[in-house]
Amino acid sequence: MSFKPANSIQDLQYFGEFGGVNPSISDSSTYTFLSAKTMFDTFEGNADGCYLYSRHSSPSNLYLGAALAAMEHTETANVTASGMGAITSVMLQLCNAGDHIISSRTIYGGTYAFFKNFIPKFNIETSFVDITKLDVVEAAITKNTKVIYCESVSNPLLEVADIKNLAKIAKKHGLKLVVDNTFSPLSISPAILGADVVIHSLTKFINGSSDTVGGVVCGSQEFINALRNVNDGACMLLGATMDSLRASSILKNLRTLHIRMQQHSKNGMFLAEKFEAEGLKTVYPGLKSHPSHQLFKNMMNTEYGFGGMLTIDVGSLNKANALMELMQHKNLGYLAVSLGFYKTLFSAPGTSTSSEIPEEEQNQMGLSDGLIRFSIGLDADIERTYGVMRKCMLEIGVLKA
Ligand SMILES: *Cc1c(COP(=O)(O)O)cnc(C)c1O
Repeated sequence: MSFKPANSIQDLQYFGEFGGVNPSISDSSTYTFLSAKTMFDTFEGNADGCYLYSRHSSPSNLYLGAALAAMEHTETANVTASGMGAITSVMLQLCNAGDHIISSRTIYGGTYAFFKNFIPKFNIETSFVDITKLDVVEAAITKNTKVIYCESVSNPLLEVADIKNLAKIAKKHGLKLVVDNTFSPLSISPAILGADVVIHSLTKFINGSSDTVGGVVCGSQEFINALRNVNDGACMLLGATMDSLRASSILKNLRTLHIRMQQHSKNGMFLAEKFEAEGLKTVYPGLKSHPSHQLFKNMMNTEYGFGGMLTIDVGSLNKANALMELMQHKNLGYLAVSLGFYKTLFSAPGTSTSSEIPEEEQNQMGLSDGLIRFSIGLDADIERTYGVMRKCMLEIGVLKA
């Protein structure tokens, strides 16, 4: 693929008020107008370049949005207070009472809970399907279906969505394809593959320093305008607005994303290969044994690799917990949810980030008790890390000497 998302970010130029190399932070919630007429026009949506109130938009948020739209190759983007703020706004914007959603069954726990427990109160129903089976996806479409929803690389099972073919199905039936690309920024460009809306939790790899929550919706100008509409826009009315100071700090971190993703991917690949060679049940899209390895390869922007997320199955929750505690004790990383940090983070998703999913459904989708999800860090010396990790695994009996 010829698209170079990191170049698109790098090529954007905007200066601060005094010629600063970073844009000035717009530290204001509200904006003055030179005339009452302009204020009226702005509320009507007819005054380009005017700001009215920072819940609607602010210069700092627009800068970050522009960079993320450049990265995802969409017309524009709107940043939000969190990834969930982006997901919930998009779905409530696209769906009316009586509508139907088809969603991958392996998605972020919060998104799953929103679909399963929250929006049914607006009479919006969701069918959860195995997103890797295109015939099953198409068969689930009803006359009320509005959206196909998936993650490029799913949380936590690392299933890979065939975005190109899902987009074809969506187009054929007049549906919107919404893709959460949180696990694979830069590596996969869903909009290029045909997705209508691309969402990220900026909390994870994109910000990369585990110091903030944030989200973004990347899409057409028409859709983003609709989200921000003062009369019926979900972002405007539900109020999941990012603060300008945060937008400014995330933009600065975004500029090193390409270097970080390369290191996350390099370390992820190294460990996945070692774990698999030791006989551990390892899931990583970069491994040939991954059922969607070839699909990921066909979709990816090669230089960013297969990402920093991998899972191993150590057989039981007790072993998983003991191993994670020992690895933390040996300073290999932290027993914590979330991802995209410089340190490795590990958790057992069945009892944490996916605990919203009932046990029976967890079993059905292959989310076992002994599963450990790793977000591999930026370790400078991954061989040293592996050496210590291996000793931990021997000590807990996950590996046999
Ligand atoms: C974390 C996460 C979210 C939610 O994002 P927040 O910023 O925590 O609201 C959504 N999707 C995926 C895949 C995530 O990992």
